[in-house]
Amino acid sequence: MDIYPIPYPVLELLGRIIVIGVIIFIILILVALLLFLFIFFTKRVILPKIALFMITMMHEPLRRLLSFFRVDPTLVDRVSVEIGNAVNYPDFVSTKLEERALLIPQCVRSIDCPAKLSSLVGIKCMECGKCEIAKLSAICKELGIRLYITPGGTFSKRILLYNRGQIKAVVGVACYPNLYEGMLNVRLAGIPAQGVPLKTTGCVNTTMDTQEIIARCRMVAAACSK
Ligand code: SF4
Repeated sequence: MDIYPIPYPVLELLGRIIVIGVIIFIILILVALLLFLFIFFTKRVILPKIALFMITMMHEPLRRLLSFFRVDPTLVDRVSVEIGNAVNYPDFVSTKLEERALLIPQCVRSIDCPAKLSSLVGIKCMECGKCEIAKLSAICKELGIRLYITPGGTFSKRILLYNRGQIKAVVGVACYPNLYEGMLNVRLAGIPAQGVPLKTTGCVNTTMDTQEIIARCRMVAAACSK
């Protein structure tokens, strides 16, 4: 009598498939880890499309691996954002200024912000000057770039959906994990994005590198207008 409920050849085949799957997984995570380490330490983005694909595919395993070795897992998000910026750059600069949007998280606002939330466009900055968004708002108007202050990622998606066909490129500001997720969603929607990380993170009173945002927008605008 057969002691196995499943025929032995089938069990053997299943065992082989599992072993091959484990080997493929280990190879993929090693390749992703090597690309991640190279880009992180050299600050050079090599094979950008392949690196982005590999690190995106192995994103969670890489984060868990870093956590296991007590290394900050958001480093994976950071490297992913840098690769995403490099990959998206050519498509981003091919868009017109008025087709671009700058998305700022609401945590950058002053806690005394007088602006009101609109269900369609997010928080409408009144340029009161209590936070740095006032300066960005003025510059965006000058450049013709739309500025949105959003309460969260879901709201950002709604803004992009509502303005489908009008917004063709995005500059996003957020903490690295949110930036990674946001850039991934925007890329899936076929919109090239540039990400700028917050200088200090948290739920309130976060800070951003305004000069970096402005410089990035101007650099792209200059490349676009030549
Ligand atoms: S500058 Fe704009 S976002 Fe900042 S506090 Fe004033 S109204 Fe709010």
